[in-house]
Amino acid sequence: MSEELPKPCGPKPCDDCPFRVNALPGWLGPWTAQGMQEHVLREGYFSCHKTIDSDGQPLKETTFCTGALLHLSRCCAVPRDLELRDAMARAVDLQEDGWEQGILALQDFVPYHTLKETPNAR
Ligand code: SF4
Repeated sequence: MSEELPKPCGPKPCDDCPFRVNALPGWLGPWTAQGMQEHVLREGYFSCHKTIDSDGQPLKETTFCTGALLHLSRCCAVPRDLELRDAMARAVDLQEDGWEQGILALQDFVPYHTLKETPNAR
């Protein structure tokens, strides 16, 4: 990721964040679970699914998903992009002890969200 990194959406993931362990299963906007996770792990900028329409077009200026930053850390990712690495570290610093328990782990994200995927998801 070489573009300027957007700011995180907030100090903590929102209640609806798909990276939370209690997220609404399958509520991923136009994404498949696998597509979303691969995108994030490839250091792609994740547009909040609440800020894009069903075709993935932005509805308003987006921010970097705090949940995605924490998921990266939970996956023990070491981003090559230093700005992203810093953003991930800052996001982790803002969490309370035990935050990892609230974020889906690498192996749990896809199974958790797969059952409720929509047929036209990409
Ligand atoms: S970017 Fe992520 S944490 Fe932020 S509001 Fe959207 S889903 Fe929630």
